[in-house]
Amino acid sequence: MPGLRGLFIPGPTNVPDRVRRAMDIPMEDQRAPDLPQFTLPLLEDVKKVFKCKTGQAFLFPASGTGGWEAALTNTLSPGDKVLAARFGQFSHLWIDMCIRLGLEVDVVDAPWGEGVPVDVFAQRLTADRAHKIKAVLVTHNETATGVTSDAAGVRRALDDAQHPALLFADGVSSIASIDFRMEDWRVDIAVAGSQKGFMLPAGLAILCVSPKALAAAASAQSRRCYFDFADMARANKDGYFPYTPPTHMFRALRASIDLLNEEGLDHVFARHHRLAEGVRKAVQAWGLKLCASEPRWQSDTVSAIFLPGPMGSRSVSASPRWRAASSVSAIWAISMN
Ligand SMILES: *Cc1c(COP(=O)(O)O)cnc(C)c1O
Repeated sequence: MPGLRGLFIPGPTNVPDRVRRAMDIPMEDQRAPDLPQFTLPLLEDVKKVFKCKTGQAFLFPASGTGGWEAALTNTLSPGDKVLAARFGQFSHLWIDMCIRLGLEVDVVDAPWGEGVPVDVFAQRLTADRAHKIKAVLVTHNETATGVTSDAAGVRRALDDAQHPALLFADGVSSIASIDFRMEDWRVDIAVAGSQKGFMLPAGLAILCVSPKALAAAASAQSRRCYFDFADMARANKDGYFPYTPPTHMFRALRASIDLLNEEGLDHVFARHHRLAEGVRKAVQAWGLKLCASEPRWQSDTVSAIFLPGPMGSRSVSASPRWRAASSVSAIWAISMN
């Protein structure tokens, strides 16, 4: 096949050549004495991408879903109440996981095409005088609908209600592509996956965890083993891992973060915004409609569009013509019916 073969779906995204080449190396000893010289700065540099200063970064061999599970099981106990909004497939799946892990979820349903209803969250938090809600979940960028939520607004709602709940953000399709500020927003756990903004193959759940969430882990009763923060932190302290780490993914992550830093995160965000604006203009010119119902919800990494009846998503998936999309701002076709 001539030329480069691009993949035009919301994730996995295309892996730059430099990142792919970084993985093309012989196997290495995961207990080598010089490994920490590589892993310790890598973990620190992950934090910078999340704009995390006081917390700790974790790299688990998993996809984003494993990152959700790590966040929930390390900090909460069965029966704990969490507040979450459902407005797309990913926010729905995270809620489903909470239920399956025995948490009690206060679900706020919002129209698909809108993001977290901050005002409703504010009411629920203010009304919760007994502080039964232990964590608030925000799907920062709902990939299914191309909607970005106001995570800073949720932090304000928590502060206004003087509510001590932990704040968790799913940034799988936003971190490293859309402005995300863990420290400023005092997010307690932020979850990313390797195959989206980090431009790697699937296989790493990338998390940053605040000191407050780490403290909560000391008393959380949920069962956990593979994703235990304490085991990971103990080994990471010296630059090692509690089980065989995916070192090739780490080499690729190093190359990815170097690429991001060379371009500059602000420039990366601006590039995504510019390309997304182009996609949005094209969608408008085609006479189609974005799923994001108002400009304030529009995502700069994913533009989900409604297609008229017979071109709905089921028939579209068979037609490569409708899968054309920019390599950095995917168009996600969803059916109107
Ligand atoms: C892709 C994605 C996930 C995680 O999915 P995995 O397939 O487990 O990596 C979670 N949340 C959002 C918003 C996503 O886009």
